[in-house]
Amino acid sequence: MQFLVRYLKPYVRRMTGGMICKFLGTIMDLLIPALLAYMLDGIVPTRNAPRIYLYGALMVLCSILAWVGNVFANRVAAGVARDCTRQIRHDLFGKITRLTAEEMDRFTIPSLISRMTTDTYNVYRMTGMMQRIGIRAPILLVGGIIVTMTRDAALSGLLVALLPFMALIVWFISRKGVPLYSEQQKNVDHLTRIVRENLTGIRIIKALSKTVDEKRRFGQINESLAASETKAASVMAVNGPTMQFLLNMGLVLVVVVGARRVSLGLTGPGNIIAFISYFTIILNAMLTITRILTMYSKALASARRIDEVLDGKEETSPAALPDADENAPHIAFDHVTFSYGKKSPDVQDISFSLKRGQRLGILGPTGAGKSTLIKLLLRLYDPDEGSIRIRGTDIRALPLDTLRKKFGVVFQNDALFRGNIGENIKLGREISLEEVNQAIADAQAAFIAEKGGLEAEVVSRGQNFSGGQQQRMLLARALAGTPEILILDDASSALDFKTEAALRAALRTGYADTTTVIIAQRLSAIMQCDLILVMEDGVPKGLGTHDELIRSCPIYQEIAQLQLGGDADE
Ligand code: ADP
Repeated sequence: MQFLVRYLKPYVRRMTGGMICKFLGTIMDLLIPALLAYMLDGIVPTRNAPRIYLYGALMVLCSILAWVGNVFANRVAAGVARDCTRQIRHDLFGKITRLTAEEMDRFTIPSLISRMTTDTYNVYRMTGMMQRIGIRAPILLVGGIIVTMTRDAALSGLLVALLPFMALIVWFISRKGVPLYSEQQKNVDHLTRIVRENLTGIRIIKALSKTVDEKRRFGQINESLAASETKAASVMAVNGPTMQFLLNMGLVLVVVVGARRVSLGLTGPGNIIAFISYFTIILNAMLTITRILTMYSKALASARRIDEVLDGKEETSPAALPDADENAPHIAFDHVTFSYGKKSPDVQDISFSLKRGQRLGILGPTGAGKSTLIKLLLRLYDPDEGSIRIRGTDIRALPLDTLRKKFGVVFQNDALFRGNIGENIKLGREISLEEVNQAIADAQAAFIAEKGGLEAEVVSRGQNFSGGQQQRMLLARALAGTPEILILDDASSALDFKTEAALRAALRTGYADTTTVIIAQRLSAIMQCDLILVMEDGVPKGLGTHDELIRSCPIYQEIAQLQLGGDADE
């Protein structure tokens, strides 16, 4: 909750103003039944009409003041809650963009999404509610009890007798209800995950005729969500009616005992009417407090989840740019070892170096650690051992944006954003139209002209384009601006052989000065690289040119045999 205090601090003055208004408005509400009682018992019997009107007018005035005070306070509360949550969302989003990749892995993306949305919404509701009824309910409760005690101690005894029962309900709700709600929330998370997986993988599910299985899987979680909802609701359903029942019983007792006291001349009927009003006010305040408690526990859990992210580890970036050694290799991996889980290494003892303009091909089965090398080069993760250097400087000593500006990248499973083609290629960078068109030509993306040019619409994840078209647009994005280093991770898998060959030719002629790393499954895509690294299970199994590897590396020979057949040696 500490972080919430920090976020509310700038609004202390506004909140104090609002709370004073709320306080005054609530006191006005509390005054009305007392005025009524005095009018009925003290003034009506004297038949003094002008005084009756005066007190009537006073009651109207109190009502108006209560109305004005509460409306003003509620508006302030809503404004503070809105501004404070907007700031939290802003900071949270900024923080998420700065989190290290390891932290992203730890939180997971769906969880970060729900922290950004549901959890901030819970905090928004609570900050608003606390300022509105969080102030009002205790004032009504305590104020009501004080007033009733001073008016008629005997009747107040009834109220005091009821309070322990009420307290018991509050206790029951907070003990039972909250865990039930958390369980329900967990089931909602689970359901969301399954829906997400299903919708993302809908094609493969249909293709493999897994629809029946998936429906069953969904059915199961849907059932258990419904069951936990029923459980929570059936516990919570007891709350309101029980409170109401206690209230009604209390009212009956007040009327019975009150009538007797009136007939004995111990009190006036107006007093009983006022008492009944206070009684209702007090018990409603109790009811509200139970609601606040539920909301508070929910929001507390949410606030913790948000705080965890705000406390997450950020990427660190040195400020100064060290001098480059122009004679050093452009990119050098020096005995690099890295593990995601810090248990067994996912890549082990990788060393190679590339001169400016050279091309490295990385080959190996899935899970071999190829993409991991790219992530290390982009400094999404830092190596556990060894170092990666660009022009002789350890990349950890380079400011992050200087480092990342050097790259044009197509990641595996990369996606386009909603917008138009031009925006997707430029991606906010200052790139001239000429360069964009050149990149489109080099990426063999001539189809863009037929689709309506750079203005053509792209839907989210680029799904209004075929896989090959998406890949070529991503290539154009990576090539635009002629990067110093180009990284293509499985970036031509959806292209036909002819297009791929044309792409290779374009890269050779137009990007001779760009150092390139190509990850591919197809040998044809990397065969002509200056250097080829063969990976298996995170371990380098061969490093050299095609001709060298075909002679010395059994895995490479095997792949060549499979993919190129008898032509492998030629
Ligand atoms: P490739 O690109 O060769 O298919 P990767 O470099 O993606 O392989 O993966 C290498 C190994 O690292 C795999 O065993 C994979 O399970 C693991 N791995 C990849 N990304 C992560 C991650 N974010 N967290 C934990 N393990 C990962």
